[in-house]
Amino acid sequence: MAEDCLFCKIIQGDIPSDKLYEDDEVLAFRDIAPAAPVHFLVIPKKHISGPSAVAEEDEQLMGKLIRIGNQIAEKEGIEQYRLVFNNGAEAGQTVFHIHMHVLGGRSLNWPPG
Ligand code: AMP
Repeated sequence: MAEDCLFCKIIQGDIPSDKLYEDDEVLAFRDIAPAAPVHFLVIPKKHISGPSAVAEEDEQLMGKLIRIGNQIAEKEGIEQYRLVFNNGAEAGQTVFHIHMHVLGGRSLNWPPG
């Protein structure tokens, strides 16, 4: 738990979310401003500020985010999707609790803007 962290508040249930998955380590919920027909976030319950703060002890947890993302994507009916981690404001990070975006359901351009 970190003070003044939006996603910690979502984990605590203080701010509502459209949950897709939850266990003791991971939470997934729909993005409030979807950028694609399917757009959800997969986050660890442990507060990690972003990709650059991932430590060796977090390696398994980070892999779990991808595995859970895969499972939800299948349930959501998308076989092709993009996984995004933004690190730092210049890269587009606005919430400083690490989160994996899963985007799909439309063609996605590359490179991103
Ligand atoms: P980023 O820009 O990579 O930090 O992504 C943060 C994401 O969190 C954005 O796509 C926002 O739309 C999303 N977001 C912000 N507040 C909420 C919320 N209360 N519930 C769900 N998603 C949110």
